[in-house]
Amino acid sequence: MFRAVASRAVPRAARPVTQSTFCAPNIYFQGRLRRGYASEAEEKDLVIIGGGVAGYVAAIKAGQSGLKVACIEKRGALGGTCLNVGCIPSKSLLNNSHLYHQILHDTKNRGIEVGDVKLNLAAMMKAKDTSVSGLTKGIEFLFKKNNVEYIKGTGAFKDEHTVAVNLIEGGGETTVRGKNILIATGSEATPFPGLTIDEKKVITSTGAIALQEVPKKMTVIGGGIIGLEMASVWSRLGSEVTVVEYLGQIGGPGMDKDVAKQAQKLLQKQGMKFKLNTKVVSGDADGEGVKVTVEAAKGGKEETLDADVCLVAIGRRPYTNGLGLENIGLEVDERGRLIIDQEYRTKIPHIRAIGDVTFGPMLAHKAEEESVAVIEYITKGYGHVNYGAIPSVMYTHPEVAWVGQNEQELTAANVKYNVGQFPFSANSRAKTNLDTEGFVKMISDAETDRILGIHIIGPNAGEMIAEGVLALEYGASSEDVARTSHAHPTLSEAFKEAAMATYDKAVHY
Ligand SMILES: Cc1cc2nc3c(=O)[nH]c(=O)nc-3n(C[C@H](O)[C@H](O)[C@H](O)COP(=O)(O)OP(=O)(O)OC[C@H]3O[C@@H](n4cnc5c(N)ncnc54)[C@H](O)[C@@H]3O)c2cc1C
Repeated sequence: MFRAVASRAVPRAARPVTQSTFCAPNIYFQGRLRRGYASEAEEKDLVIIGGGVAGYVAAIKAGQSGLKVACIEKRGALGGTCLNVGCIPSKSLLNNSHLYHQILHDTKNRGIEVGDVKLNLAAMMKAKDTSVSGLTKGIEFLFKKNNVEYIKGTGAFKDEHTVAVNLIEGGGETTVRGKNILIATGSEATPFPGLTIDEKKVITSTGAIALQEVPKKMTVIGGGIIGLEMASVWSRLGSEVTVVEYLGQIGGPGMDKDVAKQAQKLLQKQGMKFKLNTKVVSGDADGEGVKVTVEAAKGGKEETLDADVCLVAIGRRPYTNGLGLENIGLEVDERGRLIIDQEYRTKIPHIRAIGDVTFGPMLAHKAEEESVAVIEYITKGYGHVNYGAIPSVMYTHPEVAWVGQNEQELTAANVKYNVGQFPFSANSRAKTNLDTEGFVKMISDAETDRILGIHIIGPNAGEMIAEGVLALEYGASSEDVARTSHAHPTLSEAFKEAAMATYDKAVHY
């Protein structure tokens, strides 16, 4: 559910902004030209600040819609957090560290005997960097293809229509004016008070995807998805990892409690240690390693955890530093989020915000949906994102994926529901692949059988959840899914069987 947006609505513009309402000549702007940068020559229909998933997808969609668009990015590469230091590099390391771990521990019983297996971390990092650079360059190509002007620099509001850009290449400053301006400046890792991040010993996920050697011991503060993915990578590569989590379950509050329990059990089996219901009291990185002092969340005896590296993974916060919001009177809420209405407008209607910098889950695909919707709002006056059907995935092994509501949320909301569950240990393909850990759990409304939530822990859960998202989007019942033919032998038959178990009975379990 998208909670915060609706309550802060600002009045809608009297009529939608369409292409025909763009492009009034701006005499004021003409007098302000200072450098010969291309952007200064004309007012854009849309100026986007931030070239992450939110910004670059919006830029491409804007170009496709015939808008004159410029996208300002200060990183020197497009793709934002996701491509450069988030989704993509982390998944590269997750994939390759899983392969390494599997070769070490899981080939003999498959009839594959391997000799001397060695980790070449530098090569693993290089493979990651190759994936990242290929993808970021791909976006530059798409910008050219769709007539998006790419301005490399840091943007800051001068006034409500003008953004000053501190240019990266060649230095100096230019200004760019836009009839519409989209803020897509994303987020940054939330620091932990008392522990200074140096990205070597005390690291965020950015340091965790770039370590040059495997730490002997690693403490991870925060058992959410990013913390657990990074913990998985380094644990597989040989680190002794302890995860400290304030809550009573891993995975964050969105993860279904049964799934979280199972995930913890399986990650423990792989060697990770967990301290739940535990808070970090203080940290000390002055010596050789990092000492982290913890105690029970409710208070109690202190304990000190020693490690070579401490990963701070307590969440992310919206990033608006240096954006000059004060120059245009835009404010953020108590969590740093830009306040917007349903059409992503700030209180200055032609300035909108999407992605991590505003409300909603901090996920790349959520940002992407908003990018398409915001361009539709600008060009057509209407758009749509279903915040009730945004999937979440944790790319550990096995993967965890879910969409919709979990049991604890439905119980708290007093909703009556049915649950059906099917284990991968009873699925023929999982058995064939010798990869049987986990289950699919479906929850549907007790009265109507409409699916309310789907929670998967198991191989390829992140791919399988797409079917669940589609089912939710189309308001499917568990019976609808159960009566849909699924190819045999596939893991997705477990999905069908969970649906059968929800409204009736599974066949194979
Ligand atoms: C380790 C990690 C793993 C992740 N894994 C996943 C995953 O598997 N799946 C998923 O869906 N999400 C994942 N995420 C989250 C995902 O990366 C974000 O939700 C997504 O990047 C948000 O996109 P965005 O465009 O809103 O912001 P960002 O990607 O942060 O992009 C904002 C861009 O704006 C630029 N910028 C900021 N201020 C200015 C300025 N003043 N001028 C010019 N440019 C500026 C920044 O340099 C940045 O490039 C992960 C995040 C991390 C950290």
